[in-house]
Amino acid sequence: MTDNTLPKFDVHNLRVCGCCLQLIANGEINNGTDDAEVTSAGQVATWGPNVTNMIAGGPHGDDCDNDGSTDCDCEDFGFSWSDCEGCGSALGGDRYAATVLIPLP
Ligand SMILES: [Zn+2]
Ligand SMILES: [Zn+2]
Repeated sequence: MTDNTLPKFDVHNLRVCGCCLQLIANGEINNGTDDAEVTSAGQVATWGPNVTNMIAGGPHGDDCDNDGSTDCDCEDFGFSWSDCEGCGSALGGDRYAATVLIPLP
């Protein structure tokens, strides 16, 4: 029997730190520090098993007509002191777009 229903997700658009973005996009952070471990632990503490459903990027701004063929700044929010929404880090720094998909029951 085939179930044609697409999985449903609760989509959260996040503003994450550079470490989160690297970890989400590359699966690792190669800067010779324990950033990867710290960030990974923070993500798990924040999102639990849904860390595996985190993806880099987010929606374009309402006034952006980029169809993907060029670069734009929609996924770069600039410097912020607000906590990283990916790993919970309170360190100030640049924030980037990421998305977490939480499967609905
Ligand atoms: Zn854009
Ligand atoms: Zn983070």
